[in-house]
Parts: sequence; structure tokens; C-alpha cells
Amino acid sequence: MDKYQILKKYFGYDLFREGQEEIIDTLLEGRDVFGIMPTGAGKSLCYQVPALLMKGITIVVSPLISLMKDQVGTLNQAGIHAAFFNSTLSAGQYKKALEFAKKGTYKIIYVAPERLLLKEFLEFALQSDISMVTVDEAHCVSQWGQDFRPGYLKIAEFIRMLPKRPVVSAFTATATREVKEDVLAALELQKPKMITTGFDRKNLFYQVISKGDKFTEVMHYLVEHPTESGIIYCLTRKIVEEVCEKLLQKGIPATRYHAGLSDYERQKNQDDFLYDASPVMVATNAFGMGIDKSNVRFVIHYNMPKNIESYYQEAGRAGRDGEEANCILLYAPKDVVLNQFLIDQETEHDVLTEEEMKLVKERDRERLKQMTFYCTTNGCLREFILRYFGEYTTNYCKKCSNCLTEFEEIDITQIAQAIINCVKSSGQRFGMTVITDTLHGSQSSKLKQNGMAENKYFASLANVPVYRIRQVMQFLSYQGYIFVTKDQYPIVKLTEESKELFRQIPVMMKAAKEVEKKPADDKTRKSRNQMKSNSAGTDYALFEELRKVRMEIAKAEKIPPYIVFSDKSLRDMSVRKPKTKEAFLAVNGVGEHKCQKYGERFLGVIKNWK
Ligand code: ADP
Repeated sequence: MDKYQILKKYFGYDLFREGQEEIIDTLLEGRDVFGIMPTGAGKSLCYQVPALLMKGITIVVSPLISLMKDQVGTLNQAGIHAAFFNSTLSAGQYKKALEFAKKGTYKIIYVAPERLLLKEFLEFALQSDISMVTVDEAHCVSQWGQDFRPGYLKIAEFIRMLPKRPVVSAFTATATREVKEDVLAALELQKPKMITTGFDRKNLFYQVISKGDKFTEVMHYLVEHPTESGIIYCLTRKIVEEVCEKLLQKGIPATRYHAGLSDYERQKNQDDFLYDASPVMVATNAFGMGIDKSNVRFVIHYNMPKNIESYYQEAGRAGRDGEEANCILLYAPKDVVLNQFLIDQETEHDVLTEEEMKLVKERDRERLKQMTFYCTTNGCLREFILRYFGEYTTNYCKKCSNCLTEFEEIDITQIAQAIINCVKSSGQRFGMTVITDTLHGSQSSKLKQNGMAENKYFASLANVPVYRIRQVMQFLSYQGYIFVTKDQYPIVKLTEESKELFRQIPVMMKAAKEVEKKPADDKTRKSRNQMKSNSAGTDYALFEELRKVRMEIAKAEKIPPYIVFSDKSLRDMSVRKPKTKEAFLAVNGVGEHKCQKYGERFLGVIKNWK
């Protein structure tokens, strides 16, 4: 069998995605690979396909128990013998699985890094024919990364102990320079081919909503998309509790996840989400690492996250199956304050010196600033993210809320000059909120205390809405006309360019058209829905019927529905309406094993359809 036949027979796919083929070919030639691909790009297949074509066993080092379980479940469903070795196995199960492994039952073995050098596992490894060692989530080897796992530092030692050096492949979605260097060094990769694919996820629609009530927006979305599964990320446990409670009151099948819950409840809620018993998950960022659920159709951020890296990773959990999915961020200026507070409270860096800690916090504030720019930009959101990761694309993706909103150039000369004057006259001592409140003429006692109520520019922009003053200030900061410090209490300062504002008249800014606000919103919604129905020829009623069959099978076999078939496969079935097993095999994601196992059930429904 060749790689194309493997792809079709076991995974049911016709084509490789970007980067996959090159990685597979390189590994089959016996050369190490370091693959850097975004979440959902399809890294697993890059080592699973060669694993099946190599003579011996492939060992996959993976940091997460849930991920291992999921991957092994998926492989066994596809008819590939695989097993995992981690702390969830009882002593008896562990022994039994090792016996099978020694007999060569498994082609692919997942293992937690801490197990590699344990006596029994090592014994098995030393006497087996190991063709490849794959390191999944390779950034865990880096002490720079957020997910450092000391066990990962043992991998190189393990490989050195093997009688014959296997080919080594490492994969991650983190592309910063420090992490790359650490991976190369700590895993002792030998002349690896570095393969980085584009970071763009074309099936994701990005949207930022910065006006209106957040909960109402969430309800709007859920009412419009009643059958979808998705995640709502909140910044704190308290907000998770509040949002989840309110959703349950409104009859939404939601569940929650955060570090404050018992192990039992977290596991249960996670399973309810994976098995679609509670398709809406409200969670902090503690949720999601290693969650491989392919049919997540939306990720809503109820608060702005702390940086673009986190945002892209969390939003990237939508649409892993390649089907259209929505990534919506609900932004409010309060989120900036909350994030600043969290950065100040951060104690994770206890081991650092005071000086190092200061640098880390400064870096965190800079990242937060970039995240805020994302929320307030009028430019293409996709382009903003990709540029942040060092990729340059067109500035019009046609698939984000900004590209679909009608903008107009507005004259902000008066607002911009008032901001500069107010900052200057108050001695460059205050943050954005005080400046905004002063210009708008707020009656807050804070302004009386700090003397700003007497400032010459107090209430000079009384007729301009607060959000517009903030928006202009963000714009000026992004353009470099003002500068916001990275201190614990960020202060607005003037720059060399500030003076330019008084020369370059008029100062123009792109802003969403005010009068047509409602139609623009509707338009965004419409085009999103249009995009959905563009999945040409989908018979939605049949799709729903097939989902029911999938749920019945999943319940009977106690596996998550998306492991039976992805949404994409079901959609393809409802377009093609196959009547024979041959035709069924042509459906995206249907391999031989699954065709035999489930073909009749699905064909039965399709044949009797209308
Ligand atoms: P990653 O590990 O990069 O986040 P996965 O390996 O979990 O991504 O793959 C994401 C999804 O894409 C999975 O549902 C997988 O089956 C699917 N996939 C991977 N490769 C292909 C392909 N060549 N054609 C179609 N779907 C694919």
C-alpha cells in the first residue's frame, strides 16, 4: 500500500492538506522532521500515515491524557491497532497492554513522557523494533513556553538508549523563535527538515462585537444556531459561573469548566460536552488543551483574552473538521482593565528575579496592547492575526466582520486634538479612562479628587460618545501619535508624532457607518448564514437525521459522536446521498473499516429518504 491508499483506506480522505505530504515523504526517507502547523491543520496524520508504512512501531510522546485517549479511540475506530500508556491504566491493564505491545499487536503507541524511562516500558522499548519516535506538542520541552513539562527533557535520553536510532518527528503549533530553538536542541533532532505551513485557517470567520450587551449577543447567536456545539470562554471563574447559570435558566444545554471545580465534575462536564449531551461549554482557559472535538462550530470569547497567541489557540478549537465555523470576540474596554489586573496578580513566575519578573510583565502588557488593537481595529481581522505571526497577506479577506462591514472615513481632527491637549495639559500623568472621562465630562468623584474636573478640556467633548473617544485614542496609539506605557497603571504619553496631528489636518479614521449600523449587522449575519448554506446542496433535514443515527451509535458504543463520523462526513453524505457501499466509501472521512462497521445504518436512512 502507498500513502494515498492508506489515506483513503483508514482515514477516508482523498487529498493531503498543505504540508502533510512533504512531511510524510521526508519521514519515509528516514530524515527527522520538525513540523510547525496551526491547531486543526492535521498534524496527527503526518505521523500516523508513515507509522503505518514503516516496518516497526511508532511511539508517540504526548503530554495530555485526554488527547491520547481520543487519538487512540479514533485510530481503533479506523481499524488501526493502537494503545496508550499513562496513569489512567490500572496496574493490571498496564501489564496486559505491555504484553500485547511486546507481541507487536500495536503499530502506534502513545505514551506520557514520564513513562519513557520507567523500567517496564524501557524494557519493552529496548527489545522492540521502533521505527519512529514522534513528539506531539513539542513546545512542552521549552522552558519558555507556557506548557513546559519537565518529562519532555527525558525524551532525548530515551532515544539515545534505543539500540537503533529511530527517525524522530516533532510537532507543535507554537512558532516563536525561542521555542523553536529549544525544541531543536532539547530533542537532539538530526538535520531535521523544518516544515512550517501557513497559519491561516480559511474556514474560520472572525468577528469582534464591541457594542451592546454581551449576554444578549450570546443568546442571539445561540438562538440562531440551536443545533451547534461550541465553547464560550470567560476570563474568570466567576464569569463562567454567571454566564453558565444564565444560559441554563434560558434553557440552553450548557455546562461549565474551570480550575475551581472538583476533578470529578470537570471530567463529567468535559465528557458531557464531548458526547454532545451539553453541546455548549462555558469555560476559563483551563479548558481545551488536548480537546480534539472536531465539530466545535463556534468559539465565543465573552472577554478579550490576554494575548493574540491565546486567542488564536482558543479560537482555533473551532472547525477542526474543516467545515465553516465562527470565532466571535465580545469586547468591552473593561476587559483591558481586568487583564491588566490579572497580569499584576500573576505569581506563576515566582522563581524569577525581580528584574526578570518586571521584564515578563512588561512583555505581557505589550501583548495585551496588541490584543486590544485587534479588538479595536477597523482593518481586516484575519490579516491582523496573520501579520502578528509574521505572515503577510492581503488586507481584505472578505471573511471577517470588518471586511463585511461598511466603513466610512470620518474626520476625527477635533477629537484627536482634544485628546493630545488634555494629555499635555494634565502633565502626561493619567491613563485612558481618566482622559476619556475628563473629555466627556464625567461627574465621577475620581476626577474631582485628581483635579481633572478643573482641567481646561473638561467636557470639551461632551457631545461625543465615550466609545468614540476611546476608539480614537486606540487609533492614535496604534498609529504612534500617542504612547501607552507598560506599567502596572498604564499612562498615556505624547510622542514625537503627537505634534504632527496639528499639522496634518484633517485627521481621518475609518469607522463603521453609524446610520447603517443595523443593516450592517444584519448583513454580517446574513453573509455568515449564507456561507453556511453555501456548503453546496446540503440537505439539512437529512443531515439532522444522520446526526441522530450518529448519536445512537455513539451512545451504544460509549464514544463521542465526532469519533463515529465528523460533521463534514455527515454533510458530505447528505449531499451525495450514496445508495451503495461503493458510493458510501467515496464520502469524505469514510474509510473501509468504518464503512463496514456503520455503512448499513447510514445507508438505510439515506435509501429511505424522500
Ligand atoms: P492538529 O493536531 O493539527 O490540531 P488534527 O490532526 O487533530 O489537527 O486534525 C484536525 C482534523 O482534520 C481532524 O478531524 C482530521 O481528521 C482532519 N484531517 C487531517 N488531515 C486531513 C485531510 N488530508 N483531509 C481531510 N481532513 C483531514
